[in-house]
Amino acid sequence: MLPTVLNLIPQCCVFCGDIKNGLRICTRCMDALPWNDAFCERCGQPVFSGQPDGVCCAACQQRAPAYAKARSPLHYAFPVDSALKAMKFRRQLMYAPAFASLLLPMLTMAFRECDALVAVPLHRWRYIRRGFNQADELCSELRKHVELPTLRNVVRLRPTPTQSGLSSSMRKKNLQGAFGVRGKLTASYPLIIDDVMTTGATCEHLARALLDAGAKKVGVLTVARSSTTAN
Ligand SMILES: [Zn+2]
Ligand SMILES: [Zn+2]
Repeated sequence: MLPTVLNLIPQCCVFCGDIKNGLRICTRCMDALPWNDAFCERCGQPVFSGQPDGVCCAACQQRAPAYAKARSPLHYAFPVDSALKAMKFRRQLMYAPAFASLLLPMLTMAFRECDALVAVPLHRWRYIRRGFNQADELCSELRKHVELPTLRNVVRLRPTPTQSGLSSSMRKKNLQGAFGVRGKLTASYPLIIDDVMTTGATCEHLARALLDAGAKKVGVLTVARSSTTAN
């Protein structure tokens, strides 16, 4: 009976509460979102809009990341930043299906060859304290629409202090040897899923761990992309 009752509750926009359209994100809020329209072909970092398509940013030209391609539909700016913080720190999980609906078109277009999802793992102590992993919530929502397994044997081997407030070089050091694969990797092109990508250090280290475990290539898909704030 419960699913039937839940179906009767009108869907409202997660940003403005509008219930008229029955959408998780109403058309007005959808238009107002900070879309990441102009980005580096490789790392997904926002670039100035005049740059031709298919060109990599200066950082990627200098040193290509371990992952083959990263994409984020949104900038980490209002109202996306506060919504992601509410999801992560106040367990406002109604944002998970809303953001997953924005990831889905990118997953099916830019990452159609991927054969598994990988939620950026939390160390078990942090998982126990927080009670959930926001990246896992996004994977669960995506899996309602695509037939991809979530790899459960990709783990954080040691607790790492939060990346917030650390410089780019400190972030890299902080994550040395942080991730690993327990047992056999059962995917050749896993797709890392997370809420926000900042310097890319987390995804870089996780991608390297997946490549070391036998992945042929690795993709990264996050809700938002930030170059200034911590993840
Ligand atoms: Zn709205
Ligand atoms: Zn780049």
